[in-house]
Amino acid sequence: AELPDGFRVHQTANYLIFYDTSPGYAQWCGSLFERLYMAFTNFWRRKGFEIHQPEFPLAAIVFADRNAYLRHSRPELGDAAEAIVGYYAMLTNRMTMYDLTGVEALGLTEGRGRSAAQINLILSQPNSQYAVATIVHEATHQIAFNCGLHTRLSDCPLWFSEGVAVYFETPDLSSARGWRGIGAVNHPRLERFRRYLAARPADSLETLIRDDARFRDPARALDAYAEAWALTYFLIRQHPKKYIAYMSMLSQKKPLLQDGPNRRIDEFRTIFGDLRQLDAEFLRYISR
Ligand SMILES: [Zn+2]
Repeated sequence: AELPDGFRVHQTANYLIFYDTSPGYAQWCGSLFERLYMAFTNFWRRKGFEIHQPEFPLAAIVFADRNAYLRHSRPELGDAAEAIVGYYAMLTNRMTMYDLTGVEALGLTEGRGRSAAQINLILSQPNSQYAVATIVHEATHQIAFNCGLHTRLSDCPLWFSEGVAVYFETPDLSSARGWRGIGAVNHPRLERFRRYLAARPADSLETLIRDDARFRDPARALDAYAEAWALTYFLIRQHPKKYIAYMSMLSQKKPLLQDGPNRRIDEFRTIFGDLRQLDAEFLRYISR
C-alpha cells in the first residue's frame, strides 16, 4: 500500500515516522519508540546479547483519523483491523497506527497541538493503557526483527517472539528518558495465566513450544500469550544464560525454512533440559 497524500515525515535516530497527525503526536510517537529502542538495546546488552542497529530506519505510519487507518490496514488485516489500534507487519516491516488521543479526547475542543505532557496524561488513563501497551508490544516486535534478536520470515517460535513482546509491553509514560517498566510483572498477563492454571493441561509447556497452533486459535490465544509471558519471565529470571543461548540459536535461523514440531522440542530440550522437570520448576516459581 502506498502512502496517501498529505503525509509528512518525522525523523529520529532510528525511526522514520510518516504522519498526518499533529507534529506533536508524531514527536510523541518518536520519543516513545526511541525510549523503547534504548531500553530494549540496553536490556539485552546487559544480558550479554549484542543488539545491532537496524539496517534501515524503522518505519511507522501514523494516521490522524481512525477511519483512514482502517481503510489503509484492511487489505493487510481484514476485519481484524477493527479490533486493534496498531500493528507491525512482517512483510512490509512497518508499524501502522492512529492517533490514540483522538479516541480519549472526544470531549476536548482543542484536538490538535497538544504537548507531550498532555498526550502522556491522556494516554495514562486506565482505558488508554491497553492501547498503549499494544503499540509498545508491536514496536517491540519491530525492533526485535530488525536488530538481530529474530530473523524476519524465519521459523521463530511464536511463544518466543510473543514472549519477548509481552515482556516489554508494560509501558512507562511517566519518565522522559528511562523506561522502568521492563521486566516488571505484567499483571493482566499474570492474572490470565493464574486463571488458566486451574485447568492447565499436563502437556501445556510442550504444546506451547512445539508449534504455533495455540496462538493461531482465537479460543486459546489469550491463554497462550499469558503462558508465553509467564515462561519468558521465569526463564529470563531463573535461567538467563540458557535463555540467551536459546535466543542466539534462534537468531541464526534462515528465512523461509520451517523446522517442524520435533525439531522445536529437541532444540528447546537441548538447552533447557527435561521438559517435565522444567515445567515443575516453572509452576513453583510462578505460583509463589
Ligand atoms: Zn505480538
